[in-house]
Amino acid sequence: MSAFLCKICGDCCKGDGSVFLYPEDIAAIAEHFCLSAQEAVDKYAEHVMLEIVEDTGSYLYMPYLILKKNESGCIFSIENLCEIHKLKPYQCKNTPFVSEFFSDNSWRKYLKDNCPALKTMDEKDFSNYLEIGKRSEEVEKNYYYLLRENSFNLEKILNVNLSAPKIITEND
Ligand code: SF4
Ligand code: SF4
Repeated sequence: MSAFLCKICGDCCKGDGSVFLYPEDIAAIAEHFCLSAQEAVDKYAEHVMLEIVEDTGSYLYMPYLILKKNESGCIFSIENLCEIHKLKPYQCKNTPFVSEFFSDNSWRKYLKDNCPALKTMDEKDFSNYLEIGKRSEEVEKNYYYLLRENSFNLEKILNVNLSAPKIITEND
């Protein structure tokens, strides 16, 4: 059996993917930098609306905040290291074994081809990380329930004002 050992190459902080921020992530970043939630959102986050096409053919729109990027990737990536390592967002803490890793074969293949730590692992070893994937699925569900309870009003949940969102799809 081979275990996942991150090579700290920083490549996953420079790719095309987005880091979704849950309310707890925003709160942790705001506290760390001694900012209000509004200041943290304005400085570090971008407002996006995830467009999901449901099995019925109807559309669902999920508001999220994602981490801003600069020309070299995530704004917190400095010389391949994470500036907020101790409080990095949930998604980063659990990368690459978030739920999509187990549910989306093409995404898993992309990661296997691009992450040096995954390249050396056998497919069968990934099952040891299934619990992380299941937990991240729960976290996603809870976020959805929170949005639903609040009429999908992210401004109300975070008690901040947000700029108009950029629409993204699941394939972006
Ligand atoms: S690409 Fe893989 S090895 Fe490199 S930092 Fe990300 S998780 Fe670690
Ligand atoms: S927050 Fe840290 S771990 Fe997450 S993408 Fe940015 S630099 Fe990488």
